[in-house]
Amino acid sequence: MDNLKFSFSKTNAVVTGGAQGIGLQIATEFLQAGAQVAIWDFSEQALMEAQKTLASFKDQAVFKRVDVTQRASCAEAAQSLPWSVTVLINNAGITRDKSFAKMTGEDFDAVIQTNLTGLFNVTQALYSQFDSNHAHKRIINISSVVGLYGNFGQTNYAAAKAGVIGMTKTWAKEFGKKNFTVNAIAPGFIQTKMVQAMPAEVLNQMATKVPVSHLGETKDIANACLFLASKEAGYINGAVLSVDGGLVI
Ligand code: NDP
Repeated sequence: MDNLKFSFSKTNAVVTGGAQGIGLQIATEFLQAGAQVAIWDFSEQALMEAQKTLASFKDQAVFKRVDVTQRASCAEAAQSLPWSVTVLINNAGITRDKSFAKMTGEDFDAVIQTNLTGLFNVTQALYSQFDSNHAHKRIINISSVVGLYGNFGQTNYAAAKAGVIGMTKTWAKEFGKKNFTVNAIAPGFIQTKMVQAMPAEVLNQMATKVPVSHLGETKDIANACLFLASKEAGYINGAVLSVDGGLVI
């Protein structure tokens, strides 16, 4: 699949969880489209590897270790940015899956802190760093189909991802007048390391549940981000875009 062709030469993006998986693909595609990108991630190792992978974009990319659960970490990273922000992709996320009976309070809190409170922390730290003169400011929050429909073993994750949708719609209303659009993407089964580590028969079974008969790729989510970030998508605000091959219809 070819990347979508958008020009983002005047775009300054922050991608959280940007050193691996879906976030790394999003960061890469924005860089390829000419944007300057700050890659924020918790994992030192992943940041080092991403820095090597993206060496050809060294003049456009900055890398920062950030813990989205910590307000001080987000504020410090926001202050260190070399430019004003025009696009924020809130992508960092974790899972701690267990059935409700087995889920501990720590499992619940960790996922809410990262996948829901983390978006609040990052967005609040960056809100005043957005370029006030920019006419097409964008916030894109990565939710999940699980936030729309629930999932066995994911009380914590489903609650956080549903909360992301509520936050997205609220910000769409609050920030609209200031030339922002705020949207969410709800990915289905996407082939990241986590999913690829599953046994082949489980993956095949997952694919049979998807109307288009295959799992998604990180590019599918990155391409949706490029579109939502474009000037052309300026009348899409407060939407939840399912990118799931029709999994939940
Ligand atoms: P990955 O685990 O591959 O990447 C997520 C990145 O976020 C990792 O580098 C991780 O670091 C980082 N991260 C975790 N916690 C924090 C934190 N506190 N502060 C900063 N960074 C942090 O995940 P995916 O690429 O698969 O998922 C990306 C997003 O897409 C997530 O929000 C996920 O919920 C969502 N999603 C994914 C789907 C899929 O099928 N893959 C389906 C639906 C939604 P570390 O390795 O140290 O944890």
